[in-house]
Amino acid sequence: MLTDDIGIFTERGGTILFYLSNEGIAVVDSQFPDQSNHLIEELKKKTEKPFKLLINTHHHGDHSGGNISFKGIVDHVLAHENSKANQERVAKANKTEDKQLFPDQTFGTVWNQKFGKEKITLHYFGAAHTNGDALVHFEKANIVHMGDLLFNRRHPFVDRSSGANIKSWITVLEKAEKKFDKKTQFVYGHSAEGFDITGTVDDLKAFRNYLGSILEFTQKEINAGKTREEFIKTTVLPFETQWKGDGLVRPLTAAYEELTTK
Ligand SMILES: [Zn+2]
Ligand SMILES: [Zn+2]
Repeated sequence: MLTDDIGIFTERGGTILFYLSNEGIAVVDSQFPDQSNHLIEELKKKTEKPFKLLINTHHHGDHSGGNISFKGIVDHVLAHENSKANQERVAKANKTEDKQLFPDQTFGTVWNQKFGKEKITLHYFGAAHTNGDALVHFEKANIVHMGDLLFNRRHPFVDRSSGANIKSWITVLEKAEKKFDKKTQFVYGHSAEGFDITGTVDDLKAFRNYLGSILEFTQKEINAGKTREEFIKTTVLPFETQWKGDGLVRPLTAAYEELTTK
């Protein structure tokens, strides 16, 4: 638990957040079907209140794959309009439409609602990890679920096939740093081994600097005539960073494509 009534659940996939209010339960993200079944089982031991709202930070399967476990028991599923479109497109391509529970509510730039003693506000600040990432703010508790807008000390997945953009991602993080404050507690979709899945605005700044350095480094290498194939073999970054481990090929490929595609 992060507070008396807001907690997080990590089993396999993107971190889930839940809010147990006197009116009912709100859940942010759903991992995969088995994980959501476990979560639902556990939450039913804590409260007899109904599931009112399931929010998806974005459409990726490790965040929305478990939606189906809430079918028939949750009143509403909410996500950014692009997240819903992405979920529908990917499910159609993979022929997994029958394994999805799609949002029945969407929003464009901002959405808010009183919920129990909380006010829940969703913000959309532009393309980043995908083109449909919502920041979910529980205003009274001052807790923000960042979804995959923050990979804590772990190389990020940049889903260009779903409209991701690193340059815009940097702006999104800047907006978040301005919107929230020093006391805000942030929840992250993923973190590297040994690093927390919650933190402060300092993590946002550190990740923004990392993304900026990635773009700068990539541009230099492009200017020096490196081909895509040569470039993505890079294993050591030429700048000081806490982002280590495997998966470096993902942001490097995305950065190279972003900077060489009109
Ligand atoms: Zn994820
Ligand atoms: Zn994701």
